[in-house]
Amino acid sequence: MSSIRQIIIFLGAPGSGKGTLSRMCVDKLDWKQLSTGDLCRQHVQAGTEIGKEIDFTLKSGTLVRDSVIIDMVAQWLATQVQDADSVILDGFPRTVVQARSFIAMMDGSFENVTLKVYQLIVPDSEIVKRLSSRVVCSNKECQAIYSERLLGSSEWHTKKCDVCGHSLVKRNDDTVEKIHARLVNYHHHIEQLLEYYRNIGCQVIDINADVPTEEIFQEILYYERITQ
Ligand SMILES: [Zn+2]
Repeated sequence: MSSIRQIIIFLGAPGSGKGTLSRMCVDKLDWKQLSTGDLCRQHVQAGTEIGKEIDFTLKSGTLVRDSVIIDMVAQWLATQVQDADSVILDGFPRTVVQARSFIAMMDGSFENVTLKVYQLIVPDSEIVKRLSSRVVCSNKECQAIYSERLLGSSEWHTKKCDVCGHSLVKRNDDTVEKIHARLVNYHHHIEQLLEYYRNIGCQVIDINADVPTEEIFQEILYYERITQ
């Protein structure tokens, strides 16, 4: 029997602070985070049957099948998180079709686990500002995020990552034009997902995320009825 009480999904545009908030919840509340991207990489590295299929799929240039991801998530939930109260799901489900298969799997294997969605709301104009000034660590394992606005627009080139010491780079999809395109895509998917979650009776909580992460975290504590 798994002891997980709930699965948490943070929905928010790229740059809305999901990553930082998730890390805070993991560090301070002892929640577990499941990143399906990381899990895919682990399976590939370990050479499991699922890993071999993922490797083959990615090398052929197609997307990993939803059912493969669902199997992987189910296996992880059943074996890796016996002692976690809450698990944050990261990077999945991205579409209503994925959400539907995920819920079906949960209903079958984890019927006592509830699903809760927090929508992190940040105005598009602020997202554009954040992403267009974003600088990231070049180390793929680290991926720490910095802001050109804080580092100084002419100086960030010379700075190193505080966490791992690698150089910093600008992602080439962090241009204003590409950010706008990503936001259009994001809003399209998110509306459908929110409607789906509400329709199945899942709790969806809107959070104003246009504030420092510490304040967003306090909101989460409030809704989770956690006193620290
Ligand atoms: Zn780094």
